[in-house]
Amino acid sequence: MSTIAFLNIGMHGHVNPTLPVVAELVRRGHDVTYHTTPEFREEIEAAGATVRLYPGGGQPFPDPPTPLTWMEALAGTAVRWLPAVLADLRRDRPDLIVHDSACLWGAVAARELAVPAAASFTTFAFNRHVHSPTRGSWDLLAAARARPRSLQGYLWSRRELRRRFATGGLPLLDVANIRQPLNLVYTSREFQPAVEDFDRSYRFVGPSIGARPVDPSFPLDRLQDPVSYASLGTVFNADPELLRSFATALAPLGGTVIVSTGQTDPDALGPLPANVLARRFVPQPEVLARAALFVTHGGMNSVNEAMYAGVPLLVVPQGADQPMVARRVVELGAGLSIRTQDVAKGSVRALARRLLHEPGFVEAATTLKAAQHKAGGYRRAADELERYLLEAGPVRQSVPVDPSQRG
Ligand code: UDP
Repeated sequence: MSTIAFLNIGMHGHVNPTLPVVAELVRRGHDVTYHTTPEFREEIEAAGATVRLYPGGGQPFPDPPTPLTWMEALAGTAVRWLPAVLADLRRDRPDLIVHDSACLWGAVAARELAVPAAASFTTFAFNRHVHSPTRGSWDLLAAARARPRSLQGYLWSRRELRRRFATGGLPLLDVANIRQPLNLVYTSREFQPAVEDFDRSYRFVGPSIGARPVDPSFPLDRLQDPVSYASLGTVFNADPELLRSFATALAPLGGTVIVSTGQTDPDALGPLPANVLARRFVPQPEVLARAALFVTHGGMNSVNEAMYAGVPLLVVPQGADQPMVARRVVELGAGLSIRTQDVAKGSVRALARRLLHEPGFVEAATTLKAAQHKAGGYRRAADELERYLLEAGPVRQSVPVDPSQRG
């Protein structure tokens, strides 16, 4: 059996799909370690991994969250965290490193220790049709002109990384898109745009759902049909007015309306109709299994999970890759999209009615549901990792390079 080290960034959307994979690998007898921030400790331990905490608590997130500030934060974090991460990994002696596609320090650690690595994509996989946010572009150049200090910060950290660690072959700019000989993508081939352009290193394993802590306080058994669910995810500071607009637009459709408020205090939404249940965090896969409709920001995990449950979507993109996800949902007929500024105009209820009553949306969502299930999920991801381990051969005997010994 092998020792497998997961390294990730501290975001729910990036951690969640890895949890069932970890649980499956542990079930198959592997030792799994997982580098993370304290926030995720409990759920990762519950999945069966040994948690290794990054030094210094939580992960600093860029403010404002733009591709450039994101690059600056990722590279800076890599410089700060790598010494401690490498010390842990030298003790753990993993046979394989699995890192998020944006986890720069995971990729550097694999090079530094000469351990085979796989990357995990919780977004779409990127190429010339599906643009990574951190690829070299005119937009990035304009952002660098507007925020020269962020650019300088990024370049300084990259120089430090190159000076102190093995960074050969890593992308110079595109640090949210670090590929490896095996790239696990947590969506189906059917949902991935331009899928035929990806080589065999990309395995579209579909949504990886399961291994999340249960929340016995959530009244799943008291939900009334039709269940409408609205969430703007866990990262964006959702405007309470926007969440309130969803609640009041959906409440007259009857049934139970569930609003996940994320970073926003549910009380900030003010008094709500009696059939609305507003909570900071809800057991989303279970809620989606009951839902007839999902109003979402279009986070990739949320959309993957909704398609897995065959739920039609109303996507209200807030930023990042969400406009791209929204376009794909609409293109495949599994939902509709609306701009944030149009929500106040009262169209949410009319669009929600269409999603509930026009059969085409449910049909398209059902087709995608089949594709999402067929992709194989966490079991397929574990199969792929095991196959890759076998092909890579044993690395236990190799002596990791200690930087203090380097010439
Ligand atoms: N999530 C959840 N309960 C909530 C809100 C979100 O379990 O009340 C989970 C959701 O199932 C998904 C993740 O948090 O796995 C959100 O990831 P996504 O990529 O959709 O959006 P992000 O939060 O990263 O913007």
